[in-house]
Amino acid sequence: MGRITANQPIIVGERMFPDLGRGDKSLFWLDRWAGNRPLNELFPNLYAIESEKRCRVLDRYKLNQGNIEWFWGSSNDLSTDAVKEEWAECLALVSRVSIRQTPDVWRWKMEDKLVDFQVSLVREELDDISLVNETKVLNWLHWIPKKVNCFPWRVVLDRIATKEALQIRRLQLTSVNCVMCNGELESVNHLLITCEWAQQIWSVVFQWMKIQLPRYILSVVQLLEFIDSYKGEKKFKRAVYTVVAATCWIIWRMRNEVIFKNKSPTLVKAIGDIKSTSFSWVYNRSGLLDMSWDLWRSFSL
Ligand SMILES: [Zn+2]
Repeated sequence: MGRITANQPIIVGERMFPDLGRGDKSLFWLDRWAGNRPLNELFPNLYAIESEKRCRVLDRYKLNQGNIEWFWGSSNDLSTDAVKEEWAECLALVSRVSIRQTPDVWRWKMEDKLVDFQVSLVREELDDISLVNETKVLNWLHWIPKKVNCFPWRVVLDRIATKEALQIRRLQLTSVNCVMCNGELESVNHLLITCEWAQQIWSVVFQWMKIQLPRYILSVVQLLEFIDSYKGEKKFKRAVYTVVAATCWIIWRMRNEVIFKNKSPTLVKAIGDIKSTSFSWVYNRSGLLDMSWDLWRSFSL
């Protein structure tokens, strides 16, 4: 397809737009639905006092006899002149956008046109970037269920909502430290690779696969490059990719369980989940019909 040149990253936030209908999917502050930039960037002072940072467009207007009436919906008042002024500007901007009675549709910018957004489009583009090693993991996505199939590319593009990512998007957080070790800033590479907790998991996982994991690996991309260059049969390499994807997915899920459900993770449970999840993906989707749990458990392919 050759839409983009090699090494040019795909910046999802710059390529994906809501085609606004009634504002049911677009986020008022965070998506680009009015103007070229999201409203949180255009009006940082308003965003700072917004109590619902992820409110939708739909949550901030009402219909009055066919007319759209925008309102300030935050529980914090517009108390200073500076924010009142910003709100007037913001109103002027959003009033120019037409609201329709249809659902919002995600659009993806391709060259100079916008098409309906599909994960497969992004994947095709990523597959095109031959020099960018980040995309290699995407080759075997058909072994990985739909539910998680956008997770690996979100990881390599650094688009998962880690605390670092949220901080960059100016969300106010009580702490930006990794909850697994309570130490460093929670970035993708910290959480999934360099965190003590992740290191323990990878060390057991690679022992299981009988692969020596080099010490220099400090990022997801380096890990993917390493497994891509690893010599082995195709079937073996696909299985390794699947395990790596499952491991990232399980680490992310456990991190979410710690944050949102207050659970305490254990290494034993993490390893058990990684083995059983990757087995179910391989068993159901790889076409390796002779694969059994016993074989998988000993990683005998
Ligand atoms: Zn950590």
